[in-house]
Amino acid sequence: ATPAATMVGTTIGAQNGVLFKGGDILERAKDVDTVVFDKTGTLTKGEMELTDVVVFDSDGQPVADGGDTAADGGQLTARDRLSEEDVLRLAATAESGSEHPLARAIVNGAKDRGIDVTDPEDFENVPGHGIKATVGDSEVLVGNRKLLRDNGIDPSPAQETMERLENEGKTAMLVAYENELVGVVADADTIKESAKDAVHQLQERGVDVMMITGDNERTARAVAEQVGINPENVRAGVLPEDKSDAVETIQDEGRKAMMVGDGVNDAPALAVAYVGTAIGSGTDVAIEAADVTLMRDDPLDVVKAIRISDATLAKIK
Ligand code: ADP
Ligand code: MG
Repeated sequence: ATPAATMVGTTIGAQNGVLFKGGDILERAKDVDTVVFDKTGTLTKGEMELTDVVVFDSDGQPVADGGDTAADGGQLTARDRLSEEDVLRLAATAESGSEHPLARAIVNGAKDRGIDVTDPEDFENVPGHGIKATVGDSEVLVGNRKLLRDNGIDPSPAQETMERLENEGKTAMLVAYENELVGVVADADTIKESAKDAVHQLQERGVDVMMITGDNERTARAVAEQVGINPENVRAGVLPEDKSDAVETIQDEGRKAMMVGDGVNDAPALAVAYVGTAIGSGTDVAIEAADVTLMRDDPLDVVKAIRISDATLAKIK
C-alpha cells in the first residue's frame, strides 16, 4: 500500500478502536484464512459465576441434598458426611489464594451464600490444572481430572456429574479433601453478545473459524456449538505453554492464522500467529505481543479489522 493509503487505513482503524501496529500488519490482515479464538475472555465475557455445588459421600456417590454440616466450625474429616456448605467453604478457602477467574467465582459465590471465607495456610498454583492448598491441617485440591490423578486420587466416581455439567457448557472442578474426592463445583461463563455474529460473518467470508482453550473438550464443544464453530475446529485441553504450538501446527498446514486472545496465556500464541490480535481489556502482555489491538471487547471488531485491511488495499489497486 502507498504511505497515504496506509495512513488512511490506520486512521480509520483507530477511529473504530482497531489499532494496527504497522502498515505491514494492515496489509496482512486481509489474507487471513483462519481465525483462532481463545475461549475464555475472548468469545466469553470471562466473568465466571458459581452455579453448582455437588457433594460426594465417602463411597464416591453424589449426595442429592448434601449432608448436615459435619462439624460446626470444628475440624472436618473426609469420613464425615460433608454438606454443600462444607464443600464450598473448603473450595473457596483453598481458592482464595488464586487470581484465576474460576477461583474468583468460587470465592465470590461462597461469600454470596453467606460463607465466611478465610485464607488457606498454604497455597500452590498448578497452571492449567488447578490449585493445591492447605486448609487447617488438611490438603485441599480444586481442579480438573488430571490434577486429582496426578495426586493419586481417582476422579472417575464424579464422571457422570462432571459430564452433565460440562455438557451445559460449565467448567466443572473436582474438590478433594484429605486425599478423597468430596465434591464438584461448577462455574459458568456468559458468551459475548456479538460472538455468534462475528463467527458467522467470518465464515461467510470463507474464513475457517477455530477455538482454542485450556478448558476440557466437552465444555469447549458446548460453547463452540453456541457460537457456531464446528466441533472439529475446537482444540481443547491445551496447556498455557502449548497454545503457541497449537497455532504453529495450524499454520504448518499452510494457513494464515489470526489468533485472537486476551490473556497472559495467549501472548506466545499471538506472537507466532500470522496476525496476533489482542482483544478488549486484554492484559498488557497480550497487547505487547499482538499485531492488532481491539480497544473494545467486541468480537465483531475482528471482522472490522479484516474489512479495513481489504478496503485499504483495494484503494491502491
Ligand atoms: P483457560 O485457557 O480457559 O483460561 P486454564 O489453562 O487457565 O484455562 O485452565 C485450564 C483448566 O484447569 C480449567 O478449565 C480448570 O479445569 C483448571 N484450573 C485452572 N486453574 C484453576 C483454579 N484456580 N481452580 C480450579 N481449576 C483450575
Ligand atoms: Mg482467555
